[in-house]
Amino acid sequence: MPDLAENSGYRGRFAPSPTGELHFGSLVAALGSYLDARSQNGEWYVRMEDLDRTREVKGSAKSILLSLESMGFCWDGEIVYQSQRTEAYAEAVDWLIQAQHAYPCGCSRKMIEKQAKYGEEGAIYPGICRNGVPKGRTGRSVRVFTTDEKIAIEDSVQGSISQQINREIGDFVIRRADGFHAYQLAVVIDDAWQGITAVIRGADLLSSTPRQHYLQQLLRLPSPIYAHLPVAVDEQGRKLSKQFKDAPVNPKQPIDALLHAYAFLNQALPPQRPESLEGFWEWAISHWSLSQIPAQLQIPATSRRNLNNLR
Ligand code: GLU
Repeated sequence: MPDLAENSGYRGRFAPSPTGELHFGSLVAALGSYLDARSQNGEWYVRMEDLDRTREVKGSAKSILLSLESMGFCWDGEIVYQSQRTEAYAEAVDWLIQAQHAYPCGCSRKMIEKQAKYGEEGAIYPGICRNGVPKGRTGRSVRVFTTDEKIAIEDSVQGSISQQINREIGDFVIRRADGFHAYQLAVVIDDAWQGITAVIRGADLLSSTPRQHYLQQLLRLPSPIYAHLPVAVDEQGRKLSKQFKDAPVNPKQPIDALLHAYAFLNQALPPQRPESLEGFWEWAISHWSLSQIPAQLQIPATSRRNLNNLR
């Protein structure tokens, strides 16, 4: 009989960007990834995705961590800060260029927009620098050569998805013209470096997953399993996000915040409102069921189940 207290080899993570305080949408991602890990005796890591210093809101990394702590999340190991991982990203970019999987691009956004077709993520790069940066221009960003290959992924919540990156997204940027490494590259390098086996996050990142899978193939890195949780939207169908100044989670009422996020994920609620955080976590970890989560990309936050009868 295996010792259940022993680590199961499962490693999950929560990877917030410090662009504001912890809000309901990111609490849902934190909670889903945490419960899935802990219910399988797995480890859970927090990685601060502070790559893009231009979007960072001062003090928000700290405030996100404080909110998580006040709700009783316990992470394993040290927090990883992407701003301190530049060397690893630079090495991967160099390797991809050398292996002819990536190339310098000298196009400005304006030049691209003039020639591009549009896909679900905006302009599809028209390939201007694929065969070399045209004379008189210099390489500003670095892009990955993409192919027609259909990248298929089995998502544990959303089911089968597939994407032809070349046609739907185009050659995408891994190092931006301003020198920052792109999210798609950094997330792949760090998930592998941290030995992450399960990525559970918001469904707004579902369409990024084939790109990440493709980079894992090029860099010969293992692919974790993926589960994309429905995203909480407002009545107009807009994502509740830090950019919209969505009300931050109230750290003074941690049990309520957690219960709302738990109910949002369609989990079985306790018969009574837990009196303590320990009580909540005990119930939530032992009753967590990924298969209860609806295979929907979005759910209005207002359709949250009524928690009144818990009181
Ligand atoms: N940093 C991203 C965000 O806050 C999440 C990245 C991920 O989970 O892969 O939206």
